[in-house]
Amino acid sequence: MPKDATRAQEAVARARRFVAEQVKPRIEEWHRAARYPRDAVRASGLTGLFCPVEAGGLDLSYPEGMAVFEELGRGDAALAFSLSMHNAVAAAATRHGDAELRGRWGGPLARGQALGGFSLTEPQAGSDATALTTLAVPTKDGWRITGRKAWASLAGEADVFLVVCKTSKESGHHDIAMLAVEREGGGVSFSEPYRKPRADFLPIADMILAEAPGRLVAPRGKGMRAALAAIDVARCDIAAIANGLHAEALDVALRYARDRRAFGQRVLDFQGIQWKLADALTELEAGRLLTQRAARCLGTPEGPVAVAHAKRFGPDAALRAAILCSEILGAYGWLEDYPLARFIDLAKMLQVVDGTAEIQQLVIARDLLRRARDL
Ligand SMILES: Cc1cc2nc3c(=O)[nH]c(=O)nc-3n(C[C@H](O)[C@H](O)[C@H](O)COP(=O)(O)OP(=O)(O)OC[C@H]3O[C@@H](n4cnc5c(N)ncnc54)[C@H](O)[C@@H]3O)c2cc1C
Repeated sequence: MPKDATRAQEAVARARRFVAEQVKPRIEEWHRAARYPRDAVRASGLTGLFCPVEAGGLDLSYPEGMAVFEELGRGDAALAFSLSMHNAVAAAATRHGDAELRGRWGGPLARGQALGGFSLTEPQAGSDATALTTLAVPTKDGWRITGRKAWASLAGEADVFLVVCKTSKESGHHDIAMLAVEREGGGVSFSEPYRKPRADFLPIADMILAEAPGRLVAPRGKGMRAALAAIDVARCDIAAIANGLHAEALDVALRYARDRRAFGQRVLDFQGIQWKLADALTELEAGRLLTQRAARCLGTPEGPVAVAHAKRFGPDAALRAAILCSEILGAYGWLEDYPLARFIDLAKMLQVVDGTAEIQQLVIARDLLRRARDL
């Protein structure tokens, strides 16, 4: 259900402006400078999408939020991913944090004065989160966390991280908790940033925790469920971002094929080209429908499977579209003058981030097995 249609429309308009005025003209500069565009992100007004209005947020419903992420995906999927992660942390801090976390970080995160990171993955624990070893130990004045996290996005940049940890040495996920850790709270350091072909403005590194103080956000036993709930929203965001990348790739190819001539006619007038573009448009429409349905199901028992369908489909379809659209530009598709080579890399990234395609298939297959049992 829309919460406040005007606020939602304004958020989409802000995202469109942010992409047109900041992201598209500056993305290569940000990449070359290897610096996160913190000021531009703060000024975007898109840092508290799901936070209460009283905290400085926009209080969007999930379907409304997905319309914003689709716009962001048209600009740069890595920057959009960083905003997805930040928004998940801001929503958790403003809605589920205790009074101190809400008071200290809620407003600044919602308004973009502070940035949030989410840290689950470890060097030996990617898809299999039950293999975590980072340990949180209670002390007389709170919790201390020790371990090594991998793939910490906004490493060295985010001010507060939600960190998913074990609270004992027993195996399984029943003792997992989620804690908020401040970057400057002591005991937190980062490896050198990972080297990557794109999006060097987004620092990603290992996060090393050495008795770092932490504040409980989800207690022992509830940490995995809280993490999975946040990841489901993030997966839906990723599907929406993939739709945006897909839509933008199509627009770039359409414009080019309309203006480029070969064999005495517009490239767009070749029927072989039209049919390929038509298939890409069908896939975009399918991706949008899956994403909107998933967004409506978030927080219900159908949420995880609906999200898995959208996350499984969207990035693959976006990759197919980015490759096709690059081919329609011929040699020019490979140049940095157009975003398509970047989009191909970013669609690959979207396939993996927040849970690989195979993990989505696993979620869908479990649903199938339940159905088979009940037939
Ligand atoms: C750009 C980027 C940013 C990221 N940012 C963060 C972040 O901020 N915080 C964070 O916590 N993590 C982050 N990640 C990590 C990401 O969530 C993990 O990379 C992802 O969950 C996959 O883990 P992995 O790479 O270790 O793959 P692995 O788990 O090692 O999997 C390797 C391969 O095996 C397959 N596989 C694994 N298990 C199964 C199975 N049961 N059945 C079939 N196939 C299987 C996988 O699909 C994959 O193809 C980020 C990743 C990227 C690419």
